[in-house]
Amino acid sequence: MTDKQIDSYHHFHPNHFQNKRVEEEFNTWLASLNRLQISAVSFLTGTLYVIYSLLDHYVAPPQMVPMMTTIHLYLIAPVLFLISLLSFSKKLPELAVTLLLLAPIGASVGNLVIVANVDNPATYLTELYLILFWTFTVSGLRLMQATLSAFSTFTVVFITTFFLFPLPQELFIMHFFWMFSAFSFGLLGAYLLERSNKRVFLNHDQLERLAVTDKLTELFNRTRLDEILQNELDRSQRFGHAFGIVVLDIDHFKNVNDNYGHQVGDAVLVSIAELIKEHLRSTDKAVRWGGEEFIIIYLETNTDELLTLAEELRQKIENHTFEKVGDVTASFGVTLYNNGDTIASIIKRADSALYAAKEKGRNRIEFI
Ligand code: GH3
Ligand code: MG
Ligand code: MG
Repeated sequence: MTDKQIDSYHHFHPNHFQNKRVEEEFNTWLASLNRLQISAVSFLTGTLYVIYSLLDHYVAPPQMVPMMTTIHLYLIAPVLFLISLLSFSKKLPELAVTLLLLAPIGASVGNLVIVANVDNPATYLTELYLILFWTFTVSGLRLMQATLSAFSTFTVVFITTFFLFPLPQELFIMHFFWMFSAFSFGLLGAYLLERSNKRVFLNHDQLERLAVTDKLTELFNRTRLDEILQNELDRSQRFGHAFGIVVLDIDHFKNVNDNYGHQVGDAVLVSIAELIKEHLRSTDKAVRWGGEEFIIIYLETNTDELLTLAEELRQKIENHTFEKVGDVTASFGVTLYNNGDTIASIIKRADSALYAAKEKGRNRIEFI
């Protein structure tokens, strides 16, 4: 992710990043984080509904108990336990999320059936406030999903308690007030949670990026080089792909520092890094390997192409006019993946090629 994208985050839309790729990465990251939460919360809620159905025997009028048991024990609790199970399986989290979205609406409808049939509805209405709050804050649903689910619940409850089975006026007013309070606190909680999740995601993403980036040139650093090379070595061994590496070292760079100072030297390194970035194809990777040494990894290539690419870059540097310094050249060591290579062996070969290029007079390419 670039700094620009991080900037755009400060104006982000409540529910998605402006950049689609960032939004997708965020979704994947959050989904893996939420899996355990969804599972644990659904399990706990299912268990509470089992307890609820036991309490029904003590508090509800006997003729209502069978209906309540059906709703609490045979309908709601199993759905919650199912969500808890599904959220563990890798293939079905979408089904789990859909059920999670519908569960609060289903539970509210169950509650309303009871409310419409008892003499003391106030005793049961509390569940609805808790359902709204639950949906927004602990369910594990994302802001938009939770809002959709809670809004549907709210609408169903409003229509039922106002039009279909009207509550006594006094009770309705207070009930509506508590519904509204639960909805607004819940919505605020869900919004803050979503925002803080996005912050954590961006910080984590930025830290990961900083750990593998060279500060001066913003190319990859050595830590990342080892990862890239190991990855490519594995792929090449498995699929027979060839990749090539180029080591380049600036010629007589010590003179630049001696004549113009270290800062100008640094500016040359930044310019070289820019030239390398312009030259890279989308799958190639560039690393600042040492002080004024760079390694480029070219994927899916062969000797001819590799030499052409290195020559292109050599000329690009040779033809560039560097501020204050003027002309700068670099020498190149080039090598292609060989069967059985290790990180050390492939770098050693490229380094030997570089040494040969220096020996033969610099500003040139050698292949081993
Ligand atoms: P050669 O053509 O043989 O490569 O000659 P050279 O002078 O470039 O020799 P060498 O590659 O050994 O020189 C490395 C020099 O690069 C020494 C050091 O002063 C300079 N250097 C290394 N890292 C940095 C850096 O981060 N900034 C600056 N300005 N100079 C650096
Ligand atoms: Mg050097
Ligand atoms: Mg050098």
